[in-house]
Amino acid sequence: MEKMKAMVLHAPGPVESRPLSFEEIPIPSLDDDEVLIKIHACGVCHTDLHTVEGEIALPKLPVIPGHQIVGTIVKKGKKVNKRSVGQRVGVTWLNSSCGKCEYCKNGLENLCDNIRFTGLHANGGYAEYTAVKEDYTFLIPEGFGDLEAAPLLCAGIIGYRSLRLSQIKPGQRLGLYGFGASAHIAIQIAKYWKCEVYVFTRSEEHKKHALQLGARWVGNAQDEPPKKLDSAVIFAPAGWIVPYALKALKKGGTLAINAIHMSPIPQMEYRTIYYEKTLRSVANLTRQDAEEFLDLVPRIPVKTDFEAFPLDAANDALLKLKKSLINGAAVLKME
Ligand SMILES: [Zn+2]
Ligand SMILES: [Zn+2]
Repeated sequence: MEKMKAMVLHAPGPVESRPLSFEEIPIPSLDDDEVLIKIHACGVCHTDLHTVEGEIALPKLPVIPGHQIVGTIVKKGKKVNKRSVGQRVGVTWLNSSCGKCEYCKNGLENLCDNIRFTGLHANGGYAEYTAVKEDYTFLIPEGFGDLEAAPLLCAGIIGYRSLRLSQIKPGQRLGLYGFGASAHIAIQIAKYWKCEVYVFTRSEEHKKHALQLGARWVGNAQDEPPKKLDSAVIFAPAGWIVPYALKALKKGGTLAINAIHMSPIPQMEYRTIYYEKTLRSVANLTRQDAEEFLDLVPRIPVKTDFEAFPLDAANDALLKLKKSLINGAAVLKME
C-alpha cells in the first residue's frame, strides 16, 4: 500500500504542546463518487486551532485537520463524471451535505442537519493526498498560485458570506473587527464595492496591513470610530467585542459574527441593540458561496498575503496564528 506524509491529531491539547504528529500513513482509498487529490498547499484556519485544542467537538479521532486545500486530481472513482485527472481544484470546509433535509432544500446547505466538515468529520489537507466527493471540489481560477489560492477556500469564501450576511451595500461604511486571513480578503471585496472600511485590531502589524489595503481608519476594538457604521463583521473569537461593535453601528445596522467558537458575550444594556440593529452569526458556507466568490476573485483581483510553512511545521504555524503573528494567512506547502 502506498504511503503519504500527514500531520495527525490523536488527542487535542494546547498547541504549545505540539498536538499534531508527523506520520506516514496509507494514501486514502476512493469511493465511486470521489476524486483523489495530490495536495500542493493547505491554508491554516482559526478553526484548525479550535480543532487541535479541542474547543469544538471532535467527532473523529485520529483526524487530519485542514480545509483550505489546493491540489491536482490524480485519480477518480468509477462514477465521477464532472471532474477529470489533471484538473487543479480546491476543497473547502464543506465536505458534504445531505441534500434531503429542510435546510438543504432551501438553499441553506451550510446549516444541513447531516453536514460533514473537511478536517473534522473527514480527514483534511495537512497531508500529501486527500479523497473528496467530486461535487464538493471547485476549479481554482487561473492566475493564482497554489499558496496564494489556498486561503481563498475558507478565509475568503466565509469572509464573503459574512459580508453578504452583514447586509453591506456598495458605498456604505463597513467595520471589520480583527484583521487576519479572512478580513484581509474581505477588505479587498469591500473596497471593490467602493465601501469605506474601518478596521479594529490590537495588533500594530495588522493595523499597518489594513492601511496598506486601503482602510479609511484603524483603531482598537474599544475605540469609537469617527463615523457610525452601516454594517460590521467580527472575525475575532472574542465575545467582549460584541457590545462595542453594536455601539459603533448606525440605527438599523447589522453586525455579523464570523466565528465557529467565541468566548461569552457580556451582558449589555438593551439600548446597545435598540433601534432595529441586527446581530447574527455566520456558519459555514454553501457551494453557491464558493462559486460566486471564486468567480469574483479574479475580477477584483484579490491578492492574498501569506506565510508558507512546510507540512511538518503545522504546529508552529498554528502557534504563530494563536499569537496573531501572521500577516495575512498561514499556508502549508507540500513537497
Ligand atoms: Zn476555516
Ligand atoms: Zn441536509
